[in-house]
Amino acid sequence: MESALTARDRVGVQDFVLLENFTSEAAFIENLRKRFKENLIYTYIGSVLVSVNPYKELEIYSKQHMERYRGVSFYEVSPHLYAIADNSYRSLRTERKDQCILISGESGAGKTEATKKILQYYAVTCPASDQVEMVKDRLLQSNPVLEAFGNAKTLRNDNSSRFGKYMDVQFDYRGAPVGGHILNYLLEKSRVVHQNHGERNFHIFYQLLDGGEEELLRRLGLEKNPQQYPYLVKGHCARVSSINDKNDWKVVRKALSIINFNDNDVEDLLSIVASVLHLGNVQFAADEQGNAQVTTENQIKYLARLLGVEGSILREALIHKKIIAKGEELVSPLNLEQAAYARDALAKAVYGRTFSWLVNKINKSLSYKFPGWRSTTVLGLLDIYGFEVFQHNSFEQFCINYCNEKLQQLFIELTLKSEQEEYESEGIAWEPVQYFDNKIICDLVEEKFKGIISILVRALPKANSVSLQSLDFFLHRHKLADQKTRKSLGREEFRLLHYAGEVTYSVSGFLDKNNDLLFRNLKETMCNSENPIVNQCFERTELTDKKRPETAATQFKNSLSKLMEILMSKEPSYIRCIKPNDSKQAGKFVEVLIRHQVKYLGLMENLRVRRAGFAYRRKYEVFLQRYKSLCPETWPVWDGRPHDGVAVLVKYLGYKQEEYKMGRTKIFIRFPKTLFATEDALEI
Ligand code: ATP
Ligand code: MG
Repeated sequence: MESALTARDRVGVQDFVLLENFTSEAAFIENLRKRFKENLIYTYIGSVLVSVNPYKELEIYSKQHMERYRGVSFYEVSPHLYAIADNSYRSLRTERKDQCILISGESGAGKTEATKKILQYYAVTCPASDQVEMVKDRLLQSNPVLEAFGNAKTLRNDNSSRFGKYMDVQFDYRGAPVGGHILNYLLEKSRVVHQNHGERNFHIFYQLLDGGEEELLRRLGLEKNPQQYPYLVKGHCARVSSINDKNDWKVVRKALSIINFNDNDVEDLLSIVASVLHLGNVQFAADEQGNAQVTTENQIKYLARLLGVEGSILREALIHKKIIAKGEELVSPLNLEQAAYARDALAKAVYGRTFSWLVNKINKSLSYKFPGWRSTTVLGLLDIYGFEVFQHNSFEQFCINYCNEKLQQLFIELTLKSEQEEYESEGIAWEPVQYFDNKIICDLVEEKFKGIISILVRALPKANSVSLQSLDFFLHRHKLADQKTRKSLGREEFRLLHYAGEVTYSVSGFLDKNNDLLFRNLKETMCNSENPIVNQCFERTELTDKKRPETAATQFKNSLSKLMEILMSKEPSYIRCIKPNDSKQAGKFVEVLIRHQVKYLGLMENLRVRRAGFAYRRKYEVFLQRYKSLCPETWPVWDGRPHDGVAVLVKYLGYKQEEYKMGRTKIFIRFPKTLFATEDALEI
């Protein structure tokens, strides 16, 4: 018989807290590697689940597997997503406390797949009725629709989510899902008009062209070939072998009807999708004065029809800029570059707002009408971009990394809090833990007046190097940019020391992206649109409102702060996803990549906090059940209190005073080796 030790050698430990050398990153990664080789992609750090993307279908998501995890205690079965899902669900049911599951990791690490698998778990295992079946369907079917409009092929992931998503599932008193609500964050709108080499625009465009019926495409004035549309081929890869656009189109069409879109809604929505493509084909030429003129009259005709606007007004709006100064309207012509900018800004605005409209519409179909006296509980799923560092880091990375900084703050706070609470409720003395408090970085970004976002806002009217200097000065004063490496910074760069490491941001384009400007006359045109969706997306109040609209970073900061409030009010669980290689290959474990992610995800810090006191803790009943055979006094049955049984048992096993503590309901064991010795004794 294989001894326990060699089994552990082969497949590693299923909980990192049981690593003897828990401060060693090498030991951590070696444990991940061993398990990955055996297709064991899940490992715990206490109650946090670490998941490594297998890049192949594993037979671990069947209905039988779901059943295996249902109602079973966390540690009795091997680590799995379903254990996290079930554990949260059970707390929600028994303690009636709202839950959230936070899923993080870099692009391609498996966040979205994890979210979908958890939703499926609930769809299969929660109680059902006709009404509930409809809600389950809608919850599941909102995914293909949001992915069609919000996901794209990137170099890192063929189905990369280009927006952050938080989804609440509401459960009724029986524990059946009865409604839901989605919040979306920061769609990467720039992709609508530009894609890097090897990347695509959002899936929906290619799906529509490839799958749309002839009659539909004719109505929308579209041709099947994506090469006809500059917005679709900037990355030179309109076709991708792993993606079947035609098939996906069918899935999306069906999903739309399940989430309550009637034929008119679909037609209005697709008109907007088509209008973006037509906008991309609008071209300009300069007249003698150098002013832009539209040369593609045909596109204007289609646009007028699809967007429900007057063609001549749209044409003029694309080549003029209107501002209001001292109560007077000033209209000036645009040059070629400005006109192209205005056109692209319109395409991004229309698409971006339509995406938010879509989320709203889905929310309406998921909304649960409270019957008054019956309260619901909520379980939230957060699928949001992880920490990002590229060669060139711009506004998007700044926002994403700021978001991760906030989540890390929340994570440390809540993990420490729950550790402390557990010790207190068990009557065990709490030993303070040292950790890196990243509040200083969050403040640096978000503080009123002094924070980077405030400075960006103030910089906008000028948008020149003066503002960049003030930013630079600010960072210098705070000594957060490393003095030694400062010299290597370019003139238009600044550097932040995030919890996960240093990132150098390039400020070029920063202010522009933050400002997200759409000229007034284009806004006016859209406000008059007869396409009901466009009309809802552009409200008249925007034109009359005297206040400067919020910048993208300010909006993001505000929505993040709301998200933090939501998460703080819930009991969190964590899934940390890791991508094993950059080539989307099964079985390939690239150590340097993984080491980076372990760092960015703060896993070593997490483990240190979790191991600060006791490596292992179990309820007395569970501990006794597992090891009672090792002691003649507790075997085969122990009649007394489980607490006393465990006391007798560990005394018999020779546990030393400093090795363990007896809490109110659990035994706490300080070092893994104590437990391993007991485990090994079972095998003999
Ligand atoms: P992004 O931040 O770009 O949205 P992500 O973390 O959401 O990335 P996913 O889209 O979930 O990444 O996963 C990328 C791909 O990896 C999937 O399309 C799938 O092929 C594979 N994958 C992820 N998780 C699993 C899994 N548990 N089993 C099998 N394949 C998986
Ligand atoms: Mg994703």
